[in-house]
Amino acid sequence: MRGCDNMCTYCIVPFTRGRERSRPVSSILREVEQLSEKGVKEVTLLGQNVNSYRLPKKGGLRFADLLNRVAAVNPEMRIRFTSPHPKDFPDEVVEVIRQHSNVCKNLHMPAQSGNSVVLERMRRGYTREAYLELVRSIRLKLPDVALSSDFICGFCGETDEEFEDTLSLMEEVRYNQAYLFAYSMRERTTAHRRFKDDVPPDVKQRRCLKRNKI
Ligand code: SF4
Repeated sequence: MRGCDNMCTYCIVPFTRGRERSRPVSSILREVEQLSEKGVKEVTLLGQNVNSYRLPKKGGLRFADLLNRVAAVNPEMRIRFTSPHPKDFPDEVVEVIRQHSNVCKNLHMPAQSGNSVVLERMRRGYTREAYLELVRSIRLKLPDVALSSDFICGFCGETDEEFEDTLSLMEEVRYNQAYLFAYSMRERTTAHRRFKDDVPPDVKQRRCLKRNKI
């Protein structure tokens, strides 16, 4: 799928790639079948927010259905997907992952911050508590799951205490891999119109370096 309807305040993607468009399931399945015939061993389904995949004309077919069908094309072919948005991670997707041994137990779940007030400023649509509850519920159903994430440090107005919550979230979740980027304001975003990029560059860098202690 392409585009994004979420409008996180720091993000330029909805302005550059437009509204969400889901590629027809028949076209995806055809491509996966062709790749399988060529001996390709691994396929990654891509979208800014794969959980929003929806085909209204096909009775509201959702991402779990697509993943189920793609996984069934060739049980020897590994299937990955990225990225699922933590605000709307359906149980059905976890169930499909559990049922197919060829769907990799590896989830990239971009948290962006561990502080609920910062998450609200980012307009991410979840709190720290809701994110941790999602992680707990996924690990209950997929005990061997490997988790990765993206984080931003130094978003508009972020205090040292708020950034400490990002570090404590990382410690609590114990990701297999996490990327931490210093915030860089983009023109045209909501943050550019409404907020001030007021965390000095040296503070952003210092916060980025703190992650090394985890
Ligand atoms: S961060 Fe991701 S979910 Fe948010 S607006 Fe950008 S592309 Fe969409």
